[in-house]
Amino acid sequence: MSSPRIDALPAFVGAFEQLLGSGADEAAIFRDGRALLAVLIADDAWLPAALAEPDPDSYRIHLLHADPARRFSVSAMVWGPGQGTPIHDHTVWGMVGVLRGRERCEEFGLPAMPGGPLRPGPVHELAPGDIDLVAPSIGDIHRVSNALADGVSVSIHVYGGDIAAITRSRFDAAGRATPFVSPYASCLLPERAG
Ligand code: FE
Repeated sequence: MSSPRIDALPAFVGAFEQLLGSGADEAAIFRDGRALLAVLIADDAWLPAALAEPDPDSYRIHLLHADPARRFSVSAMVWGPGQGTPIHDHTVWGMVGVLRGRERCEEFGLPAMPGGPLRPGPVHELAPGDIDLVAPSIGDIHRVSNALADGVSVSIHVYGGDIAAITRSRFDAAGRATPFVSPYASCLLPERAG
C-alpha cells in the first residue's frame, strides 16, 4: 500500500523558502517555483479531506502556509458547482495549479484609456496539473470559475504575500474598481517535517 504524501506540503514550503532565500526574482519564481508547484499538484493525496469540502454559498480559500516574513503564502481554493470569483486583480505574483476538477479562467486587460472598460482577453480552462501565472508585470486581472457544472474543483495557490492581508481590486462590468480582500475560510498551519 502506498503511503499518502503527507510530507508533500512541507517539502514544497521548504524548497520554496530555499528558492526565495537564493534571491530568486519573479522570472526565477515563475520558472523554478512553478516546477515545485507542479510536483506538489502531481497528486492530491496530501490535501486533508476537510479542506476540499465545498461551501454551498461561495468558493472558499483555506490557508495552508503563511511565510513568517510574508514573502509568500500557500492556499487551497475550493469551488462548488457553478461558483466563481468576480473580476479581480492580485497586485503580487501568483501561481495557480489545479489539483482536482477543472477551472475556467477569463483574462482581462487594463482599459485602453483611463476610466474605460476592461478589455476582454483570452479564455482558457485548466485541468489537473495545469498552472496559471498572474502578476502585474504579465497580466493580473481575471475571473476564475469552476468549469464543472456538477463537480468540485480544487486549486492550490501560491502568492507573493499573504493574499488575505492584501487589499486588491475587484471590477464591475464597466471596469470600475472596488477595494476588496478575500479572507481565509480556515487556517491550517501544518507541522513542519524534520
Ligand atoms: Fe485570481
